Amino acid sequence: MIARGRVRRVAKEVGSGTTLVLMCAWALSNVWGWYYQSGVSRQTQVAWTIGVVSGQIFVDKITGKPLGPILKGFHCYKPGLPILFSLPNVHRYDWRRIGTLWERVALPFWLPLLIIAIATGILWYQDRRRFEAGQCRRCGYDLSGNVSGICPECGMGTSELPIPF
Ligand SMILES: [Zn+2]
Repeated sequence: MIARGRVRRVAKEVGSGTTLVLMCAWALSNVWGWYYQSGVSRQTQVAWTIGVVSGQIFVDKITGKPLGPILKGFHCYKPGLPILFSLPNVHRYDWRRIGTLWERVALPFWLPLLIIAIATGILWYQDRRRFEAGQCRRCGYDLSGNVSGICPECGMGTSELPIPF
């Protein structure tokens, strides 16, 4: 039970942290967009772009003659109108008649954000209900008879719990 409590605690902390990071990335991507562009491979004539903009992360594969200049490196740019709820999407622009094939895979932030936030929320909710009076609120350790005022398992103060003297 103790090991399981630790796993849950780590899962909750990682889940909460990831939720926060994804929320920030989601919001910031509508203020600043950025992408990294590889150079064009001489052998395969392929250039890759990975970037974050308008609530999603995308990867582009450009094969053949690029439509514009390929500028290797990191680039920032200002996105247009905020887009918060795009769907995961795959685009394939076949301009091979003019020598270009452009393929894009894009994943919006809100999808993993929603899944991780709900899963983390369920863990927090279940733990709140499971711990009864006399148990540590953080890890569930049985504190009956505890007089130190500190949970011996996780070190949380038990001042809010009734301490039997
Ligand atoms: Zn504890």
